[in-house]
Amino acid sequence: MFPERGAGEEEVLSELRRKTAEDLTFDSGRILGSMCTYPHPFAIKVITEFIDRNLGDPGLHVGSRKVEEEAIEMLSSLLGLERGYGHIVSGGTEANILAVRAFRNLADVEKPELILPKSAHFSFIKAGEMLRVKLVWAELNEDYTVNVKDVESKITDNTIGIVGIAGTTGLGVVDDIPALSDLALDYGLPLHVDAAFGGFVIPFAKALGYDIPDFDFRLKGVKSITIDPHKMGMVPIPAGGIIFREKKYIDAISVLAPYLAGGRIWQATITGTRPGANALAVWAMIKHLGFEGYKEIVRKAMELSRWFAGELKKIPGVYLIREPVLNIVSFGTENLETVEEELKRRGWGISAHRGYIRIVLMPHVREEHLKEFLRDLRDVMMG
Ligand code: PLP
Repeated sequence: MFPERGAGEEEVLSELRRKTAEDLTFDSGRILGSMCTYPHPFAIKVITEFIDRNLGDPGLHVGSRKVEEEAIEMLSSLLGLERGYGHIVSGGTEANILAVRAFRNLADVEKPELILPKSAHFSFIKAGEMLRVKLVWAELNEDYTVNVKDVESKITDNTIGIVGIAGTTGLGVVDDIPALSDLALDYGLPLHVDAAFGGFVIPFAKALGYDIPDFDFRLKGVKSITIDPHKMGMVPIPAGGIIFREKKYIDAISVLAPYLAGGRIWQATITGTRPGANALAVWAMIKHLGFEGYKEIVRKAMELSRWFAGELKKIPGVYLIREPVLNIVSFGTENLETVEEELKRRGWGISAHRGYIRIVLMPHVREEHLKEFLRDLRDVMMG
């Protein structure tokens, strides 16, 4: 019920604390199955200072708009593109929807179809439904990358584009993006790379010497990339990123916003009013950590995931779904549902999906948490 009279701040806060006491928090180290993490303290500072900025009305917040452009420029250069066009958006879902929207609007077909791997994130299901684009699912190889031959066999006159994934949600697998790029170029189709998770991992992991396929704008068939700062970028939610190779993609999804206090603009994002502070935090975190800072975060996460994968293999009845590519380790067990239930009962933030449990080695996950988890898992497996 809407309260008649207001209560004091302390009273309201303590009620909130009570009500959220059962939430799992990132700093507890118990959340092992999420792609989000506790944000960097500097990002929180930036958000607090610039909390009132609205990038939905950039005529009012001209400076913030320029900072967002600079953030896009820095992300583009990380992804091998000198000048990119895009926005800091609400997350990977919005970014993927914008890419599909751009491909659809630029394609002159009546019954649009998009070809995407069976491992694609469910945000594409939302995109397909909202945009009336038929999703054509491509088969996976044994190593869980998309089967490029199958993708090719599914191209028709109605195809508006192809999707490849650089860091799948379930297994962190990187598709053969170079082959998909060649295919896209051969057929004159745009390729969208969903690097919502991998975007802030792969460039640094490659610099550390990990053998991961190329995935970014250096491949000419790649026309758009999703890259989310609110995953491995250490920025608070909401902060997704969409970058297009050419301005025509942004133009194809821009609508006129006629009545804004700051003046008429063309707006490409799905959200109208949107948080400027988070875009500023993306800029600030990139400036603050730099390539070397992110590389260090990724180094720890990658090393921990290799060690963790090795430890899992030692537990009887537990098997890896595949060797980890990024900092995601997924495993199966006998009686998976019972194991999942028991681990949850012991306070672990994990879930089983598609026949396995996925552990995401985010920066808040440390060796001591994993050792405790391994003890519990071993215990549960022994019955
Ligand atoms: N794409 C991939 C590969 C993802 O793993 C996710 C989320 O986990 C998304 C897109 C959607 O991102 P969000 O939840 O920020 O909308």
